[in-house]
Amino acid sequence: MGKIQMTTPIVEMDGDEMTRILWKMIKEELLEPYIDLKTEYYDLGLEHRNETNDKVTMDSAEATKKYGVAVKCATITPNAARMEEYHLKEMWKSPNGTIRAALDGTVFRTPIIVKGIEPVVKNWKKPITLARHAYGDIYKNTEIRVPGAGKAELVFTSEDGTETRELIHQFDGAGILQGIHNTDRSITSFAHACFQYALSTKQDIWFATKDTISKKYDHRFKDVFAELYENEYREKFENAGITYFYTLIDDAVARVMKAEGGFIWACKNYDGDVMSDMVSSAFGDLAMMTSVLVSPDGVYEYEAAHGTVQRHYYKHLKGEETSTNSVATIFAWTGALRKRGELDQLPELVEFAEKLERATLSTIESGKMTKSLAQITSLSNVTVLNTQDLIKAFRESLDAIM
Ligand code: NAP
Ligand code: MG
Repeated sequence: MGKIQMTTPIVEMDGDEMTRILWKMIKEELLEPYIDLKTEYYDLGLEHRNETNDKVTMDSAEATKKYGVAVKCATITPNAARMEEYHLKEMWKSPNGTIRAALDGTVFRTPIIVKGIEPVVKNWKKPITLARHAYGDIYKNTEIRVPGAGKAELVFTSEDGTETRELIHQFDGAGILQGIHNTDRSITSFAHACFQYALSTKQDIWFATKDTISKKYDHRFKDVFAELYENEYREKFENAGITYFYTLIDDAVARVMKAEGGFIWACKNYDGDVMSDMVSSAFGDLAMMTSVLVSPDGVYEYEAAHGTVQRHYYKHLKGEETSTNSVATIFAWTGALRKRGELDQLPELVEFAEKLERATLSTIESGKMTKSLAQITSLSNVTVLNTQDLIKAFRESLDAIM
């Protein structure tokens, strides 16, 4: 049987440490034997970012805009310790931050559900995908520690000098003050990314704010979503058989706990920060969580939600055995291959992505897994495998399916 052909390259962003090791194994064992893999390769490993003064990160983001689909390996975000370890010229910024800013994207995180790793919330049968707005609110705030009595006002000065004033509070003693903002542009981008992703994955989307209390600020989020939905998406949603559902944030939290999953939950920045950690830990494991960055014009960058697994990498360098979970990185690849296949109308490629996912999950369901999964599984006959042997086991299952 010939290898599956591709027409457009996927933008491939290589990374660091243990995930860089996984990356190579996944390509060699699970992709290249079956696909005539076409990628445009960018080495985002820290050494190469340093050599290129981080230009490679911007270049990879530009290539992603050009081709529309990228897959990214986890990368080190430098800190003081990394400056020394890698003899860096500068403390380069987080590649994810750079790419997110370049694509103006929203991140969607989805748990990978497998039999034997049950969500803590027992009625969650399908994944809940969390979309977090990544701009503004308290993450770009201005704060004052009020020392004593006085008047606090909110003042907006327009370009022509006109002032709008609102009394915040007449302090009769010490207190605190906070100024936050958001922009129509950012909220609109977020809403587009959410609606696009809902259509692309054929899932309902929920959005919630506290518009009953925050009648201008939160209400603006609600209105932007509602207007966009009516004007651009309602018909597409109806044709796809999916719905847009808006409610209050406290009602959303209550409903999520009782739902069975299978939808996207769009959250304002703070709600997303808090709720993504709750949802991901309730589903089990960071290494069983994928992440995709979607731009408002429909560009996709797939990755794993975890980092470079530094501790395992140091063991690996010492020649010790590791049991690193490659599932989220494999699913980053299958996400990108499936999307590429859909865009280029290559059903074989889409089918391959599905088979590889099935092979991976059925292997775990048969009891072969990493040490970390073995600690939380409800399965009884478990074989703990090292990093490489687990990938070999996935290969065996894949060969059986192919
Ligand atoms: P991490 O790489 O996610 O790992 C934290 C711990 O979680 C590991 O030590 C391991 O626990 C467990 N773990 C994570 N992924 C695993 C996997 N695939 N299989 C098995 N266990 C896994 O986070 P970190 O150690 O805080 O960060 C390391 C580097 O990653 C940092 O330089 C950071 O900047 C970077 N980072 C990158 C991204 C990204 O590129 N998207 C995201 C986050 C962090 P045990 O050690 O207990 O086995
Ligand atoms: Mg957080």
